[in-house]
Amino acid sequence: MLDLAFNKGREEHGTGGPGKDWEIGKGKAMIVSMRLHASRDEIDAVCERVRDFGYKVHSIEGEERVVIGIVGVGDVTACLESIEAMPGVEKAVRISAPYKFVSREFRTDRTIIRVDRNDIGGDEFIIMAGPCSVESEKQIMETADAVAAAGAQLLRGGAFKPRTSPYDFQGLELEGLKLLRKAKAATGLSIITEVMSDRDVELVAEYADVLQIGARNMQNFVLLKTLGKCNRPVMLKRGLSSTIKELLMSAEYIVAHGNPNVILCERGIRTFETATRNTCDIAAVPVLNELTHLPVIVDPSHATGKRSLVPALSRAAVAIGADGLIVEVHPCPGKAISDGAQSLDVPQFQSMMRSLQPYVDIWKQSRVGEAVATA
Ligand code: PEP
Ligand code: MN
Repeated sequence: MLDLAFNKGREEHGTGGPGKDWEIGKGKAMIVSMRLHASRDEIDAVCERVRDFGYKVHSIEGEERVVIGIVGVGDVTACLESIEAMPGVEKAVRISAPYKFVSREFRTDRTIIRVDRNDIGGDEFIIMAGPCSVESEKQIMETADAVAAAGAQLLRGGAFKPRTSPYDFQGLELEGLKLLRKAKAATGLSIITEVMSDRDVELVAEYADVLQIGARNMQNFVLLKTLGKCNRPVMLKRGLSSTIKELLMSAEYIVAHGNPNVILCERGIRTFETATRNTCDIAAVPVLNELTHLPVIVDPSHATGKRSLVPALSRAAVAIGADGLIVEVHPCPGKAISDGAQSLDVPQFQSMMRSLQPYVDIWKQSRVGEAVATA
C-alpha cells in the first residue's frame, strides 16, 4: 500500500517536493529496493549518493523493506552500479516505461486506497452507484438509501456536469455537493463526484471522498497537476479516444505531482461501432493490471449507454479482475435529467447485485489467493 511513508520520506529527505515535468518526461527514473530491515543509515547513505549523482529522491516507501524512487537527468548506468554496490541495497533498476511511478516496474504490489472503511484495490470488490447527476434532495436521498441497502460502498452523483450541449443541465454545483454530504451523513456511503476545473478542486475535495475526473478532462494537465497537490484520492476516467498509455501518462501527472492515490476507470472508448454508446475495452483491465499497480474500476453505464447491457458487462468486469464498478442508478430513470437510458432503477440494481454475488465470491477467492502467493 502507498502509505504515509511515501510522503513522509519526501519531507524528511527534503527533496523539494514532487518531480517537475522535465524530470519525468526527459529524465530517467530508477528504483532501489533495500534489503529487508536495512538500517536508517544505509537508507540515508543511498539518498546521499543519489544526490551526488545529480538525481532526486522522489519517494521512500515501505516499512520493513524500503523502496526508494529516484528521478532526474544524469548518467544512469554509473549511478545504478554505484548504488547497487552499497551496503543494505538489494537491487537498483531503471524503470523503462514512460510512466514511472504508476508502472508495475516501480511497484509490484497493488496500490490499495483507503476510503473511509473501504479499501479500493484490496480484497473487497467495490461498488460505486448513484445517479448521473444530483437532481434534488429527494432523488439523491432515495438513491443513496437504496444503493447502500443493496451493498454499495460509495455513492456517485455529479454536481458539476460536463455536457455536450451548453443548453443542457450543468449540475446543481455547490447545492449538489451539500446534498451529497447529507446523503453520506444519512447512509455512511462515501462520496465520489466529478470535478471539472482546477478552480473547483479545493471546494469539491471538501465534500467528496474521491474526486472523479471525467473522460473529457483526462488530459486537462492543469487540472491533473492541481490534483497532485490534493489530499483526496482521484478516479481518472479514460478519455473518449485515449490509449491506455495516454491514460497512464495522465495518472503519472497526478502521482508525479504528489498524490499517489489514483484509481483508473475504463468507461468505453469511441469506435466505429454504434450499437453501444461507447465500446468497452474490457481487455484494458488485464492490460492495466500488467502495466500498473493502480486499482481499475469499470463503468458499464457509460460504456454501453443502455441499461439492459449493464448487468452483463458488470459480470464481465468482475470476471476479468477489475477492482470495482461505478454504475448509474436512478429511482425513476425515465425522468432522469441526464443519462436515463443507461441508468438502472432500484429493483434492477438490486437484482444485478444479487446476480453478481457468485462472481464476486470467486473474485474474492482469487484475490486472497494472489495475496497469499506473493506473501
Ligand atoms: C459521468 O460519470 O456521469 C460522466 C460524465 O462520465 P464520463 O466522463 O466517463 O463521460
Ligand atoms: Mn453520466
